[in-house]
Amino acid sequence: METFEEHYASMRDTILKCMPNADMALIDKAVNYARVKHRDQLRKDGSPYIIHPLAVAEIVAEMGLDIDAVLGALLHDCIEDTDASHADIEKIFGQTVAELVEGVTKLTKANFSTTEQAQMENLRKMFMAMSKDIRVVLIKIADRLHNMRTMQYQTPEKQLKKCQETMDIYAPLAHRLGMQKVKWELEDTSLRYLNPKEYNEIMGYLNAHKEQDEAFMHTIQSKITERLSAVGIRNTTYGRIKHVYSIYRKMQTQGKTIDELYDIYAFRVIVDSIPDCYNVLGHIHDLFNLVPGRFKDYISTPKPNMYQSLHTTVIGSQGIPFEVQIRTWEMHETAEYGIAAHWKYKQGTGSGSEKDFEWVRRLLENQQDTDAEDYVQSLKIDMFDDEVFVFTPKGRIVSLPAGSTPIDFAYAIHSGVGNSMVGAKVNNRIAGIDVTLKNGDIVEILTSKAAKGPSRDWLNICKSNQARTKIKQWFKKERRDENVVHGRASFESEMKRAGLPLSITLDPEVSPQLLKKLSFDNWEDMYAAIGYGGLTAVKAVGRIRDDINKALKVQANEKMQAAPLRINPDSEAVRSNRHAVNGVIVEDIDSCMIKFAKCCTPVPGDPIVGFITKGFGVSVHRCDCPNAANRNLPIQTSRWVRVRWANQEEQPFETTLELDCITRDGLVLDVATIMTTSRVRVKELNAKDLPGGRSAITIRFEVKNVAELESIRAKLLNIRDVIGSRRGQN
Ligand code: MN
Repeated sequence: METFEEHYASMRDTILKCMPNADMALIDKAVNYARVKHRDQLRKDGSPYIIHPLAVAEIVAEMGLDIDAVLGALLHDCIEDTDASHADIEKIFGQTVAELVEGVTKLTKANFSTTEQAQMENLRKMFMAMSKDIRVVLIKIADRLHNMRTMQYQTPEKQLKKCQETMDIYAPLAHRLGMQKVKWELEDTSLRYLNPKEYNEIMGYLNAHKEQDEAFMHTIQSKITERLSAVGIRNTTYGRIKHVYSIYRKMQTQGKTIDELYDIYAFRVIVDSIPDCYNVLGHIHDLFNLVPGRFKDYISTPKPNMYQSLHTTVIGSQGIPFEVQIRTWEMHETAEYGIAAHWKYKQGTGSGSEKDFEWVRRLLENQQDTDAEDYVQSLKIDMFDDEVFVFTPKGRIVSLPAGSTPIDFAYAIHSGVGNSMVGAKVNNRIAGIDVTLKNGDIVEILTSKAAKGPSRDWLNICKSNQARTKIKQWFKKERRDENVVHGRASFESEMKRAGLPLSITLDPEVSPQLLKKLSFDNWEDMYAAIGYGGLTAVKAVGRIRDDINKALKVQANEKMQAAPLRINPDSEAVRSNRHAVNGVIVEDIDSCMIKFAKCCTPVPGDPIVGFITKGFGVSVHRCDCPNAANRNLPIQTSRWVRVRWANQEEQPFETTLELDCITRDGLVLDVATIMTTSRVRVKELNAKDLPGGRSAITIRFEVKNVAELESIRAKLLNIRDVIGSRRGQN
């Protein structure tokens, strides 16, 4: 059982050693705060919980981080495991420390153990996105390191889970951050639990050969230092056995047993300057036999994680090969502590943090971490400013375009989630579905089976194409009726804006041509397309504008010659047939709006046919009307219906005749006389002189049927100087 006092003393020593000017009163304040908050909690081995934050703070201090990071480490489990809040910590320790703790808490909540291989890339980016302050990641790594050191107290299940996570996440991360020492410890500890048999074999072998190894290393070390001292190069030289996991990896990849492996020894020569490094290299090659093809110059081309050294493998006097790594002290610090060392150097200059961040981002970004060329490449790649990384409540990472909202998130999870979304929680708080998500947010989508589906506004709110496409798909599929209504409304207002009459789309003559231009079979389909966003109303109108204007011109000419027909309002009252409307029966349709086409003004007795308009009932044409000529085309047949005149002898119909005449006095009187003697009711009679000695007489009157109309017309044509007649058609 470990005690608070032991750990506190150890941490204090380390802090004073690494940062002599540290404000110990402030440190103690954090220690006490954490101690009180965690007072009821125990570690798995029965020790007071506070030991853990103390140990993590010590590791952080060892890494060379600053006092804020140490404070953050001391408090790192307070938000997650105690009743302390961000605000509490901010009030006492300031914003920076509170944000560090908050950041670590977020990483703690993320369940990295469920991460599949495919998620690794996102995970790496996630860490990067979160490394708004790299200290968060470093505290988290220190946290994991201490947990690995005390892994023996965990259950076997937890050991396997945590160690796998460490191998998947933390060791590679430490590697990318250039923290070789931490990486090795994480790997070796993980191996111990994940492959205990192999681990123990290697450890057994190394222990059994310990004396022999040490003697060998001592011999080589002396040989090197003697030579370098003789030529006046100041150096620190030592030998070591490579770490267990790297030996394990070599055995696996080379298929060898440990005594068959040759380079398990590594020597380090640390000198003051880069020229010294190359000088040392020359002396090493002079002292020992070189193994060809093993020399690497990571000084001129550093590894992506900023590692720099000269590597060479040579063969010692006893025929045993070993590797020599030659580096400066600065390179050594970077190799051991990576980003942390770098951070430490920058600390003195004050404002280095932004630049550090760039450095980390570059470093993290380069996943192929062996090739120096890749590193050079990586310097040019812009970072992920256009992406945001958020968590599902279960810790899965979702990458979205920057500026994304819960709507984008929902559709990134599954279109079913998006379509049944009724609200969202961000970081466990109810949030608007249109809020902008930030890196590290934990997003939960509230769904309901009763949800009515996405709203059209969402199309304007969401940022990702994925969401937009899925929302459009939904509208296309699920809401055809609604789409038609919405689409029609936009189309109508666009037509209005363009100064075009909507009635043109109902015109049986013009309509097919317009639809063809729009590539739709019917107007409803086109309205639906506009409704779900597959086509804009502006585009649709733009495509048919010219055709409409052309058609309107033609019709205007026709109208000059065509007489209008008006329904006599009285006539409706006298319908005898209860299904007849305006004296017309539409087959198969019981009662619907009827109007008479203006192009051909049909009267009872005329063979007629009905055209089903959109929204204006049935329009009745004479069968010989040119506008009805296309009624047998497949595209139109469904719109044309059979209609017939109701049996209504008494019901008068209003029609119009226009007479072509040679102008003379008394002509109008003659016409009026014929009308009177024929006992028809004249509603209107106009005469108009035209150029060239012609005049036009227009008569609006009521007839019972076409037979009566034709008999009157014959009488009128008998009048002298009446040379022609025209019904309401061209
Ligand atoms: Mn912890």
